[in-house]
Amino acid sequence: MTYTDCVMTLKPGKDRALLRRHPWIYATGVASVKGHPKSGQTIRVQDNRGNFLAWAAYSPDSALRARCWSFNETDIIDKNWFKEKIESAVRSRSHLLGKTNAVRLIFGEADNLPGLIVDQYANQLVTQFQSAGVEYWRDVIGEALVSVTGIQQIYDRSDAATRAREGLPERKEVLEGNEPPEEIEVNENGIFYGVDVRIGHKTGFYVDQRENRDLACKLAQEFKEKHGRGMRALNCFCYTGGFSLALAKGGAAEVISIDSSAEALAMAKRNAHRNNFTEETLKWVEANVFEELRKMRDAGEKFDLVILDPPKFASSHHHVEKAARAYKDINLNGLKILNPNGQLLTFSCSGAIDVDLFQKIVAGAVIDSRIDAWMIQRLGAGEDHPLMMTHPEGEYLKGLHLKVHS
Ligand code: SAH
Repeated sequence: MTYTDCVMTLKPGKDRALLRRHPWIYATGVASVKGHPKSGQTIRVQDNRGNFLAWAAYSPDSALRARCWSFNETDIIDKNWFKEKIESAVRSRSHLLGKTNAVRLIFGEADNLPGLIVDQYANQLVTQFQSAGVEYWRDVIGEALVSVTGIQQIYDRSDAATRAREGLPERKEVLEGNEPPEEIEVNENGIFYGVDVRIGHKTGFYVDQRENRDLACKLAQEFKEKHGRGMRALNCFCYTGGFSLALAKGGAAEVISIDSSAEALAMAKRNAHRNNFTEETLKWVEANVFEELRKMRDAGEKFDLVILDPPKFASSHHHVEKAARAYKDINLNGLKILNPNGQLLTFSCSGAIDVDLFQKIVAGAVIDSRIDAWMIQRLGAGEDHPLMMTHPEGEYLKGLHLKVHS
């Protein structure tokens, strides 16, 4: 196969991860690179004996020196290859479009397109090119997305910090079609949300929490059926009110939502209005959750359900210890303001904190609270964020559903 003359040879023993189809090659495992590949260009990766391992994209400035496209020697990484991968990713999410038009169409490594994120919000696509490889193929990917989805509008939100590690500048601009509208309305399970794809978090919305928002709605419904009254709930780090609206839809009597961002709360209020919920049901508080939880605890406030969905406290493994203290603090106070039989939905989106560690941190909070709690279930990202079994790093969002046992 000679469509690329660029060859990366790995050091002895450094082929192990690739033989298990893990797609990342660290700079420390590379013995030599021949052919002067440019950033993002396709290289043939081989072991120290010259045996083929993978086709990969070269990233000269990154500690992740290459990310693999394919472990199949007969594959040719060209326009058609990208179109096929995009078709397959989009097809695997098509069944979701019946209940929502906010869907993650492409989730990087899980779709064999390392570093590429594509989210759909109604008739708008939003992209993030987070690796040298997908950056190199950007125009081809843009064209293929239009032809596969039939959507003419693509906005590129390649402003994630991960780009700096790949030696790529930040970029926010139209990739296909026109400027996106200021607010795009999406419909998730019958709830309408406004999404600002230009300045909103991530690509504008936390698509990954869809199934957990659905769970919150069901818990509010079950509570009302059982107790004959709507629940009193607290949604911490509410952003644009995702969980708050789901709880209101489920019949919660009162939902207090806290966020420190005035812009996020302004959108949350517009979202409440959009769905005809009143200020009596949905109350918005602009505050620091750490402080507000203490105040509520000291004031003896009680809730039937508390949701904790904070931002990423640990951006890398260097920050794990400090992040663990922060997670423990909010979980401890969150537990203390629960009514008997109250429930807690608690999340972490820090990739550096794995499922086991998160469970240990929350268990630590339970121990300190002196309250007995059961774990009802573990939670994670929705099915449009699948975990590629050969790439465990893809599991970043984890959650626990706890119930106070009393
Ligand atoms: N649960 C949301 C997503 C939460 S994102 C959803 O499903 O849509 C995290 C949010 O926490 C952001 O809106 C950010 O503004 C807010 N935030 C970060 N630190 C905070 C703090 N210390 N106190 C209150 N809000 C905070």
